[in-house]
Parts: sequence; C-alpha cells; structure tokens
Amino acid sequence: MALTVQKYGGSSVANAGRILHVAARVSKRRAQGNGMVVVVSAMGDTTDELISLARQVTGRPSDREMDLLLSTGEIVSCTLLAMALRERGVPASSFTGAQAGIRTDRVHGRARILGVDPDRIRRCLAEGEVAIVAGFQGITPETDITTLGRGGSDTTAVALAAALQADCCEIYTDVEGIYTCDPRLEPMARKMSAISYEEMLEMASQGARVMHPRAVELGAIYGIPILVASSMVEAPGTLIQGASEMEPTNKVRGISHDTNIAKVTILAVPDRPGAAAQVFDSLGRANLVIDTIVQNASAHHDHTDLTFTVSQDDLQRALDAIAPVTKEVGAGGVVTDDSLGKVSIVGTGVLNTPGYASRMFKALADGGINIELITTSEIRITCIVSQERIPDAVRALHATFEMEQPEPERI
Ligand code: ADP
Ligand code: ASP
Ligand code: MG
Repeated sequence: MALTVQKYGGSSVANAGRILHVAARVSKRRAQGNGMVVVVSAMGDTTDELISLARQVTGRPSDREMDLLLSTGEIVSCTLLAMALRERGVPASSFTGAQAGIRTDRVHGRARILGVDPDRIRRCLAEGEVAIVAGFQGITPETDITTLGRGGSDTTAVALAAALQADCCEIYTDVEGIYTCDPRLEPMARKMSAISYEEMLEMASQGARVMHPRAVELGAIYGIPILVASSMVEAPGTLIQGASEMEPTNKVRGISHDTNIAKVTILAVPDRPGAAAQVFDSLGRANLVIDTIVQNASAHHDHTDLTFTVSQDDLQRALDAIAPVTKEVGAGGVVTDDSLGKVSIVGTGVLNTPGYASRMFKALADGGINIELITTSEIRITCIVSQERIPDAVRALHATFEMEQPEPERI
C-alpha cells in the first residue's frame, strides 16, 4: 500500500474548525487506499504564547523546561486531530515525537534528529490506523524532551518520510507553494512549480520561513521529494526535488529575507594567532549559531575588529558567552546593533556570473538602503541592512531580477 506522509502547519490547525477540515482532507486521501502518517504543528500562535508565558515567570527559563513546555503545543493538536478522525469513523492514534521514535541530540531548542525508530508507527499503520505525530520534538538518550527549532515540524515530517521510505512528503501550509519571495511582502511574487533542494536550502537558511532548512537537507540526503501546497485551497503546489537538467542556470530564482538579525563587533582585538579561535570557541560551547563573520583591519595598529551576527533572540547569550574571552584576549570593547535584517538573492551560478552582485547593490542603493555587511555562497549573495528597510529591499530586488525567472521547461 502506498504510504503518504503529510504535515499541516500551525495556521492549518489554528482552531477546531480547521482541525475538522484537516480531518476531512486526511480521510478523503485515506479513502483512496493510502496508508497515512500526518505530522502537525501547534495550533496557531500557541508556541509564541507558551514562550511568552515562560518569560512572564522567569527572565532565564531553563532550556530543558522550555522544551518540555513547547512540546505540549504539538501534543494538543495531534490528539485533537486523532479525535476528529475517529469522530468521522476513521481509526487514528496520536503519538508524541518520542513515541514516534524521533531520537535527537541534547541541544535543547535546536536539537538535531540523530535517527528515527518508527516501529510504533509501523504497528499503527499495520493495524490500518492513521498515525498522527506531534511535530517539532524528539527525545534524547537520557529521555529528556527536545525541540527542533522554530518551524521544526517540517523536519519531523521529512525524517519520518525517509524512515518509512515514503515516496514523497507533503507539506501543507497557508500559502500555495514556494514563491519567488515572501508573497506577504510582495504581491507580485510568483509561485514556482519546482525548485532544487540546493536552491531551497539556501532560501530556507536565509529566512524563507515556508520550509525548515533541516527538512530540505534531509529531503536531499534521502532523496525524498517534498511537495509544498495549501491546506486551504486546491491548487498545484511546488515540488522540491533534485536539480533537473532542463532547469535554467545562472538565474536568480528567489529572494529571501530575515528580519531577526543582531550584529556584535568586538573592537580592537589584538592581531595575533588564536584570538578569533578563542572567541568562536566560547560561542560554539554555548551552542550559538553564528551567521556572518567578518574580520577587518582596524585603524589601530596590530589590532582588528571582529564582527559576527546572531539572531536577535540569541544576542544576550552571545554577549554572556564572549564576555570572559574579550577580557582575556584584551579586546577594546564590544558594540552591538539588534535592529538588522538580511536579504538574499538565490540562484544556481549567481556568484560565478558577473554582474549580479553589482546589480543587487545598485538596486539597494537606488532605494537609499545602506548595506552593513555582505556575504556570499556559491549560489547566493546576502546583504545585511537595517531591519526596517527589509520590505523595501525585497521589493526593489524582486523588481530588478523578476524578468529572469522563467519556469523550468517541462517535458
Ligand atoms: P506553517 O505554520 O504552515 O509551517 P509558516 O508560517 O512556517 O507556515 O510558513 C509559511 C509562511 O512562509 C508564509 O505564510 C509566508 O509568509 C512565508 N514565506 C517566506 N518566504 C516565502 C516564500 N519564498 N514562498 C512562500 N512563503 C514564504
Ligand atoms: N510550533 C513550532 C513553531 O511555531 C514548530 C512548527 O510550527 O513547525 O515554531
Ligand atoms: Mg513552518
């Protein structure tokens, strides 16, 4: 029997009515003879509300308690969906991430899946039931509950699809697919029929919230095509898959943005071997994800300024982590800016094709948008700019590069 793994995001299960709608969709699909595993996110803004509740109780919630708290959001929605299916006469059972065999490392708040033991899910399917799994969570070897980072339910779904050898993983959300940029910022954004794992991974890593980066990575590793489509309207979605020979190269495929960037500059770091290693070692030990790193010659002789970026939520932890080291290496001080964002153009060959960088910078300059930092990868150019100028930056870049995005030819 064909196995379908579906995932429904927070807005798709935001209230009882939407959960009933999802139950109707799942039961229709099952009636076509499919075995079904359905991963759900927490209802609506539940995760944000739980985070805010914790902050009302303490300024520094324990990572372990925070993860157990946040995991409850997805447990609520998966139990309700199982009940809604049973109400329709469809046998269904709900499972926490731990029950579904999602094993992770110990990094609370952004745990990585180490493996999936889907025996319990297989038994459920063998009994003819629909398996409903709470997304975004797993369990450590010590049986502590972890979460996979914001948006992590996508990753639960792709990991289960890989472990159960499903042909495809279907991600249902509140937009009709992957667009050339966030359709909420730019109404001219166009839906793509397909995109490669590589390009989607860059877009997701640079802030395109529609897919969790690790989900795309797992899709690529295990060769699971991922369909992103709307849970509300019947419309063709976007297929994330291996690159096709027919796809145009050297084109800007999409524009990503992220409004959650903070910059830290350690001033006048003595210019000697080991100083940067010490700083980044302390950040690594605090499990902080560092995005951009720039080291520039300072006006002061024999000293450099060391700049890096983190998410705004991680700024305080980053400052705590580097405080002892900056003292130790004898740096001149630390300055921060927590009101930044980043905007990226993504497309195979972008960096190797002359002209893209200058056109990007000119489009931003024409909009009076100042560039703070620039980073690149093989298939991406990213500019860090003021957070409040991000919507203007996205629209300016979309207008500049829009003409270059023909849909891939289909045979
Ligand atoms: P879900 O709760 O279903 O997981 P998310 O809010 O995590 O949904 O992701 C969907 C949102 O991603 C959309 O509402 C849209 O605003 C945003 N988004 C950002 N970039 C893109 C893009 N390139 N294409 C489609 N949606 C995007
Ligand atoms: N509920 C979690 C979040 O809001 C996970 C998810 O939605 O994928 O980030
Ligand atoms: Mg999401």
